[in-house]
Amino acid sequence: MSEILQNYIRGAWCDSVSGETFDNENPAQRGSVLNRAQASTADDVDAAIGAAADAFKRWSRTPVAERQAVVSRFLDALASAREELARIVSLENGKTINESRGEVDSALLEGRHHLQQMSLFAGDSAPRAEGNVTAWEQFHPLGVVGVISPWNYPMNVMCRKTLPALLTGNTVVFKPASFTPWSAVFMAGLFQKAGGPAGVFNCVTGRGSALGNQLIRDPRVRAISFTGSTEVGRKIQRMAAEDFTRTQLELGGKNALIVLADADLDAAVEATIKAGFGCSGQWCTSTSRVLLVPAIADAYLDKLLARCAAMRVGDPLDESTAMGPVAGPSQFEGIAAAIAKAKEGGATLRFGGVAEDATGYYILPTVFDGVTREMSIFSEEIFGPVLAVSTVRDLDEALAWANDSIYGLSSSIFTNDLAAAMRYVREIEAGMAHVNIHSGFKTPELPFGGWKESGFGLPENGKTGLEFFVERKAVYVKGQESGGRSQ
Ligand code: NAP
Ligand code: MG
Repeated sequence: MSEILQNYIRGAWCDSVSGETFDNENPAQRGSVLNRAQASTADDVDAAIGAAADAFKRWSRTPVAERQAVVSRFLDALASAREELARIVSLENGKTINESRGEVDSALLEGRHHLQQMSLFAGDSAPRAEGNVTAWEQFHPLGVVGVISPWNYPMNVMCRKTLPALLTGNTVVFKPASFTPWSAVFMAGLFQKAGGPAGVFNCVTGRGSALGNQLIRDPRVRAISFTGSTEVGRKIQRMAAEDFTRTQLELGGKNALIVLADADLDAAVEATIKAGFGCSGQWCTSTSRVLLVPAIADAYLDKLLARCAAMRVGDPLDESTAMGPVAGPSQFEGIAAAIAKAKEGGATLRFGGVAEDATGYYILPTVFDGVTREMSIFSEEIFGPVLAVSTVRDLDEALAWANDSIYGLSSSIFTNDLAAAMRYVREIEAGMAHVNIHSGFKTPELPFGGWKESGFGLPENGKTGLEFFVERKAVYVKGQESGGRSQ
């Protein structure tokens, strides 16, 4: 019998109230069962919120240095578990072992950044306050925060939300994606090792559709930090608006890469491979549209197709694999349907498609050419290793096409023309703009979030990564005339 993963509530491991579980499949082996996780419902979420609400009073008054010590021990435990956790992420998500190691490293980098940032996290003071009034802005934690994460970065996204929430004095109820419960439960174990007080961090697995409403609608939950699809983000926003629950929504994308005539084509192709097919095209910041000017279109495509042909698709745990399977059956079916729709819509398949492989949920690196603005492949997020390549007249048309999207998460341009690059930086409608760098590049000092339907609320990372989790209070203190005297 496979191992059963438990919920972590009030510092203890427990089964769901219903006693039901669901299977966690390895996407490299159809029908396999890695382990089973609790199919929690509203009752379990209610218990976790209760634990978090009870823990809040003490945790919110715990000195910052003590909160930092807990997070620091968590990060040490994470660093020690790097290889074990990377293996878990690859097994349940399908990304290659090197990509999983990269995910753990990214979480460590961001976590250490937030830890340091917290030492200097303070509000403004008001030098212009009149007379003997001293005035400053003070931050207060919100209370219980709900963290809902996707399966594509199962541990990194959770850390990017949870650690700032805890550092600023909030308590957390974490609900991971159902494709990736193992890494979530493993992380809960690291929190236990780090020795945080019971109830400060709670983890409840189960279908979002079964328990999401309880987490979002419960009045004790003061904020939801969500990463996932625009469709679910919109539902959450509607529900949260009802009682003014604060939201941070990191949503979908249809990120464009523009290649101009003077670009370093080899570098542009490498960036396309990295951001188009990294994690099987399942980054929210994946490059999914490529806009080429005519002068380099053929040369770029020749190089791109040669690189695709050289990519090894297969077992994610094999160090030489370039691309693993997509995350699970629904992902596979959705991507296969989008590929079929692109063909029907008139785009030309230049490489790839669904792999003839019965063992796992494999899609080959896939390239469509001749894509026009009217085609579904131009506008709809596929979230898989599928590139839509179009030829545009010039930079004007490239920018118009790039911005013709409901999304605005990330973007990239390859050019050595400074004026063209700066115009792109000014005009691109996206939360991230990259010049001669792939669309997934990021650093924790800068905000990570999207424009338009790619995001809502204060973005993660940057300054706002901590600010999202606090209320502000303006404090005015009038001293006694002539300085007063203590009694
Ligand atoms: P998803 O279907 O929206 O699911 C995301 C999370 O929401 C999962 O934990 C899911 O649980 C949960 N959920 C589903 N329905 C819910 C409901 N009614 N109420 C509350 N929670 C609910 O997205 P996904 O397939 O996991 O991830 C892919 C999407 O995430 C893509 O659109 C991608 O672009 C986006 N993404 C964005 C960013 C960013 O930073 N902007 C980063 C990564 C991914 P279940 O798994 O149980 O359904
Ligand atoms: Mg899985």
